[in-house]
Amino acid sequence: MLLEKLREEVLEASKKLIYYNLVTLTGGNVSGRDPESGYIAITPSGMEYEKLIPEDIVILDKEGNLVDGKWKPSVDTKAHLYIYNHIPKINSVIHTHSVYASCFSVLNESIPVITTTLANAIGGEVPVAKYTPVGDDNMGPAIVEAIGDRLACLLENHGVMTIGPTIKDALTAAVMLEDVAKIYYFARSIGKPQILPESEVKKARDLYLYVYGQ
Ligand SMILES: [Zn+2]
Repeated sequence: MLLEKLREEVLEASKKLIYYNLVTLTGGNVSGRDPESGYIAITPSGMEYEKLIPEDIVILDKEGNLVDGKWKPSVDTKAHLYIYNHIPKINSVIHTHSVYASCFSVLNESIPVITTTLANAIGGEVPVAKYTPVGDDNMGPAIVEAIGDRLACLLENHGVMTIGPTIKDALTAAVMLEDVAKIYYFARSIGKPQILPESEVKKARDLYLYVYGQ
């Protein structure tokens, strides 16, 4: 099977979206890029993650032409391709409708850096990308414009997009963003959250990149 390992990684990440409660039913999507061939492995449109096997993951070239697979790719494929073609260091894109983060997307409010965790996993404030209909050509450009050098943005009146140099990074960003959005939601309901200063954001991000873990 073509790109078997990448297909398995995409599948595993999509099942983790269910595990972490970031999607319901067939919502959201996951893709990964093979840096050598430039091919993209993406979840199929409208299929339940629990039932998927590696062969169900669709392989496309960077223009979106079908390379291998029997299903229609995710409805957000155009946005994934646009991100890969405009942010070369990125090798994974994950989309969810996770509830607490999506609350701020419908308020059209960015999530400021209120915890070191957000600085660690995303690298700064989480902005809102301008509203576009699902599957629209302008979705990718709106995301690339909003996201800058961070690993996540909100999609106005829609949900969340995270990116990363690896699938693990994009998944970590999606999980951590939802955690922090939940903290922000509750903190705002009982008071005025303090925002971390920019110098602390950089320190936290650097520690995570260069010191944290094994
Ligand atoms: Zn969506």
